Amino acid sequence: MAPFTAPDNRIPIERTGPHPALPRIGVVLGGGALKGMAHIGALRALREAGIRPHLYAGSSIGAMIAAAAASGRSPAELEERAQGFRRRDLFRINHMGMLMERMLARAIYLEAPLRALTEELVADCTFDQLQTPLLVTAVDLERGTPLVFGRPGFRDVRVRDAVYASCALPGFFPPGVVGDRTCIDGGTMDNLPAGIAALDVDAIIAVDVGIADVPLVRGVAEQGFASIFMRAATMMMHEMQQATLETWTTPPMLLVRPRVSHIGWFSFGHVQELLQLGYDAMRRALPHLLDTLSAPGGIFPREAMQIRVDRERCTGCGLCVARYPELLQLDTDGKAVPCVTVQEFSPRESDVGRCCPVDAITVGPIEARDAVAERLSQSA
Ligand code: SF4
Repeated sequence: MAPFTAPDNRIPIERTGPHPALPRIGVVLGGGALKGMAHIGALRALREAGIRPHLYAGSSIGAMIAAAAASGRSPAELEERAQGFRRRDLFRINHMGMLMERMLARAIYLEAPLRALTEELVADCTFDQLQTPLLVTAVDLERGTPLVFGRPGFRDVRVRDAVYASCALPGFFPPGVVGDRTCIDGGTMDNLPAGIAALDVDAIIAVDVGIADVPLVRGVAEQGFASIFMRAATMMMHEMQQATLETWTTPPMLLVRPRVSHIGWFSFGHVQELLQLGYDAMRRALPHLLDTLSAPGGIFPREAMQIRVDRERCTGCGLCVARYPELLQLDTDGKAVPCVTVQEFSPRESDVGRCCPVDAITVGPIEARDAVAERLSQSA
């Protein structure tokens, strides 16, 4: 079979998808604790559409669901398990460790429940033995480096060990040992591992459930150290993820973002809603898959949107211009103004409004009169 060359001149790779004429699609599932239940609904929508991934990749809960799918678990099986999921299936406080070891305790919660869940959902094999390729991210706690189990040199590893490590949120669960490495949650460095998955596929379908946006939350400081830690972690991961998306070139990516920002990271009462939100989001996104597959690169779906700046609120601090110089500039009064009124936005640019500390920027659908004016100015 003729070797296939990836679009940006990466090393030639053999086309090994289900059919040589079909594009190889990698499905990437991001971290997001219990919000990751939405991944299961998204996988169900993919299966109903007859899409068979060439590769799965995931971080944290995304790694757990991706590994379960690559192990042959159907979305229906996973949904059934998710519906019976209870707090005690994941969280049991490490009372003894906290009492005896105090500040030296490795985590607040015990390893055993998360380990048992991994063993229930994921096949007992190495990455080499999986039928569908799988990539699982983690972070080497001692070296401070990212790890991607499933890549060359990291395939002769028990998938269950890698998945536990990928889910080991620091402070919450003890680090996982994989071979001679001590590892923590893959989301610490790469919560949506699309870049590494892109090495082996023609297109990416990425599902981001954790940190697509960072909504206003009041009173975090009164909710205890775990809430403060998770809030900080959310912001750090969001910034890292945005940086990846803002520089994304190839292959084309269909970015699916279920609307889960109103649900807490560890909210056990929303499982059914999360399953449905994931399913609905993938159903909304799939009509854009053909556009995605026929593009040389970029992020989809794309939609004409409008940036507005409230001049009364704008202080002229310039943060938006520094972050998005192609979208915003300062006018002669020192106020921010959009470079172009109407932009074709993909989900990555939806973050523009967040960079303003006084909420002066909004991004939304084009108003009818603005669309007409824009068309007239473009045709003039
Ligand atoms: Fe104005 Fe906000 Fe931009 Fe600062 S970040 S210049 S306040 S719009």
